[in-house]
Amino acid sequence: METQPLIGLERSEKQQKPWMPRRVLFTPDALEEGYGREILERAERLNIPVEIMTSNRITGLRGADERETYRLAKTTLAIIKAPPSQLKLQPIPPSADWQFHLAQGCPAHCHYCYLAGSLSGPPVIRAYANLPEILENLPNYIQPGKLTTFEASCYTDPLSIEHLTGGLQKTIEFFGTLPDAQLRFVTKFTAVDQLLQVPHNGHTRSRISINAPEVARRLEGGVPKVEARIAALRKLALPRSEGGGAYPIGVVLAPIMPIPDWELHYTALLDQLADALAFAPDITFELITHRFTEGSRDLLQQWYPNTSLDMSEANRTKKFNKFGGTKYVFEKGIMQQLKSFFHEGIKSRLPHAQILYWT
Ligand code: SF4
Repeated sequence: METQPLIGLERSEKQQKPWMPRRVLFTPDALEEGYGREILERAERLNIPVEIMTSNRITGLRGADERETYRLAKTTLAIIKAPPSQLKLQPIPPSADWQFHLAQGCPAHCHYCYLAGSLSGPPVIRAYANLPEILENLPNYIQPGKLTTFEASCYTDPLSIEHLTGGLQKTIEFFGTLPDAQLRFVTKFTAVDQLLQVPHNGHTRSRISINAPEVARRLEGGVPKVEARIAALRKLALPRSEGGGAYPIGVVLAPIMPIPDWELHYTALLDQLADALAFAPDITFELITHRFTEGSRDLLQQWYPNTSLDMSEANRTKKFNKFGGTKYVFEKGIMQQLKSFFHEGIKSRLPHAQILYWT
């Protein structure tokens, strides 16, 4: 049976514009890599100003203050060679067994961005020119006979720069050839057409990060609307015979927050998801509540001084990690209310969906 078209969603998908950096910087090491030179050709084809650095250090990104540094960095794409430390993978529970990186940084402007707490220095977007070496290292971490999962979105939104690098397509194709391995990536971007024909062999789970449109409208900049993201996810899941990519898919609902009338807003979102995605045979949910550290709060308040994001300590409780770090999460009662709302809401609308975790 053919999947029913969703007219509103198909239209909203067309509204995105790809991000274009003001300049692309290349280190000498990056240009020794064939893939680095491919990115150079793409940048030249797109008429983006290119600068070749004289050393392998990226400099010239500091402005007079944190805001100016932010502006300079967020409009720059730097192509560098990933250091050898990137070849020693780290686990990333509960999202996947291992994390690896195609890039670090993201051109969007979300007021709650978790990268503020995890990356240091100016938030420039760096893509790695030695991608083949990064990929060829991954099979060392696969346990034969057991599915090993790899997360590629811990420090970047890989689809946000795909038109400039092509790295996600190469990665999906590589995983298509690997037995016992699954690639997982998540994005807020919608330019999925470039991924539809990639031979993924069912080994990539494509996920889209969404929130209630009321949260997205206030707190997310430089990313497509929620409706367009749902349309993109639907396209990724549709069978190839219907113009889709036939991917296993996932919804990352984040960061969940109890804004005024949150039940109404999130009910509408779950309804919209169910309408668009009920046909998808393989769909997962990851449910992530809003949290922040003191360090990320300080930086985010410098980047977005007029934000309406609530980062007060009211209704929050401290959570300690094993390295001594402290996070502020919602207090227990609120967490329980939100958790049962989402679990029940998803199970009643999409009973075959798998909820991977709540945090
Ligand atoms: Fe940060 Fe994700 Fe927003 Fe990019 S899309 S700014 S990585 S939260």
